[in-house]
Amino acid sequence: QLSSRITGLLGGGSDGWGVFLRARQMIEQGTQVTELTIGEHDIRTAAPILQDMHRAALAGHTGYAAIPGTTGLRDAVAARLQERTGVPTTRDNVLITPGGQSALFAAHMATCNPGDTALYIDPYYATYPGTIRGVSALPHAIAARAEDAFQPRADVIAAAAKQTNAASLLVNSPNNPTGVVYSRKTLEGIAQVCRDHDMWLISDEVYDTQVWEGAHLSPRALDGMAEHTLVVGSMSKSHAMTGSRCGWIVGPVDAIEHLTNLATHTTYGVPGYIQDAALFALNQGTGFETEIAAPFQRRRLLAQDILARQNAVSLVPAQGAMYLMLDVRSTGMSGEDFAYALLEKHHIAVMPGESFGTAAAGHIRVAMTIEDTRFAQALATVCDFAES
Ligand code: PLP
Repeated sequence: QLSSRITGLLGGGSDGWGVFLRARQMIEQGTQVTELTIGEHDIRTAAPILQDMHRAALAGHTGYAAIPGTTGLRDAVAARLQERTGVPTTRDNVLITPGGQSALFAAHMATCNPGDTALYIDPYYATYPGTIRGVSALPHAIAARAEDAFQPRADVIAAAAKQTNAASLLVNSPNNPTGVVYSRKTLEGIAQVCRDHDMWLISDEVYDTQVWEGAHLSPRALDGMAEHTLVVGSMSKSHAMTGSRCGWIVGPVDAIEHLTNLATHTTYGVPGYIQDAALFALNQGTGFETEIAAPFQRRRLLAQDILARQNAVSLVPAQGAMYLMLDVRSTGMSGEDFAYALLEKHHIAVMPGESFGTAAAGHIRVAMTIEDTRFAQALATVCDFAES
């Protein structure tokens, strides 16, 4: 018999991938589907990064790599965080992980005892509740409401922290699925709750290089928060390296020491040639990051133009990441019904807001991951469909 930890990972509910799977099925049956569901770039890892990976592999960096990560990459990640937060950060504050997802799992493993409550914000990235259940903690969602522009409220988080005696709070800014970047006020409020309740903050910053308005602020930068925060980062989104599985956790030295022990007993590190290529990419400054973020910024402006010409769909004001959240409540349909109907009628696949919890019901999430002209056409069709 399998453990309830693994069989109960999805919490008994649907995992929200129904529309995505239906789209895949249609594609397999030969239907042309415009795929706007998942967060996979339409551009691939840049050739110079791949050339460096090739160089490193040929140089023999194919054996076991140092489990916490190579000193070069840990130094580079530390320098990056220090530059962004002003908090002194060294390689001892950094563990390299196989992508952000495994970092999220490890961060919850490090902060939650079995049965502890782990808070997270709804709408949320699809894996969050399962990640929390996977470490035998109890997921507890806190709604960030459309009326509050999807900024979570510190008083609501404080009440939940008090009621559940939560061990951790997971936040994600820039946010998937909403694209909202948390304001300084929101983050200051959250930091206060974490300090008051002696609660860990797990800050998922995998979209930190994709901010269109204002600037990304890491809560690690806030007063007294370096000791309370585990920052999760990744090369996946910033450098279009989703398949290379290279991310990190930045946190207090003793937490990183324990997390390194965990890595020894789980992942056993990240391939050396991947880490070398990641270091090469980070050493090139912001060139790759800007190039990768530019199409999303451009498509957001395109979307604003298209949406300004109609009234059935409204765009959630957002400042970053690679998605649009569209409010389709005026149609009277749920996001899920809307997404299924759009797929069947127009062969356009989007994610229902309900896939990300309850707070984004009546919305759909559109990944801005296809070429501009097709993207604009698809959005215009979404609007016509909503109007009809
Ligand atoms: N966190 C968020 C908010 C994401 O959207 C994703 C991927 O889509 C991840 C984490 C995982 O990214 P990685 O490829 O680094 O595991």
